[in-house]
Amino acid sequence: MKPCTQCGRCCTYDRFMLSLQATAEDVQRWIEEGRDDILQYCDMITSPVTGADLWISPRTGNEMPRCPFVRKRRNLPIYDCRIYETRPEVCREYPKEVHHMQSVDCEMLEDGDTDADVARFMGREAGAEVGAAPDNDTDEIEKNP
Ligand code: SF4
Ligand code: SF4
Repeated sequence: MKPCTQCGRCCTYDRFMLSLQATAEDVQRWIEEGRDDILQYCDMITSPVTGADLWISPRTGNEMPRCPFVRKRRNLPIYDCRIYETRPEVCREYPKEVHHMQSVDCEMLEDGDTDADVARFMGREAGAEVGAAPDNDTDEIEKNP
């Protein structure tokens, strides 16, 4: 296993985006933090809320093919998470399994790595995925719709 390069593939891969869900704790945290900017992309699963489907376009009502909070850094092949400090649990836990990583050609994976290697690495390197965004350093051309 190697450190995350912030290549952005996991946050811009449509098949991952179609399966992403927030936990009830994620939703409650965003409500308490007043994060309407995040909640507008959530489709609550039940009431009272037990979770939410992510990321749903408030404009079309459809699931988005890439996360609305991922941004490419200006003139660099590096992607940042604009909600890193409060990103959903599913993102905090990524990567979890080798086959998920293989499907996006994740640059953390090395030949021979197993699910156990991933778990060990994540235990040492919690939060290894697209990192926090620096201020005023994103490429607007790469913005999501
Ligand atoms: S976790 Fe893997 S796919 Fe995602 S940004 Fe990091 S290196 Fe790229
Ligand atoms: S880590 Fe951030 S940018 Fe990536 S899918 Fe999660 S919320 Fe979006």
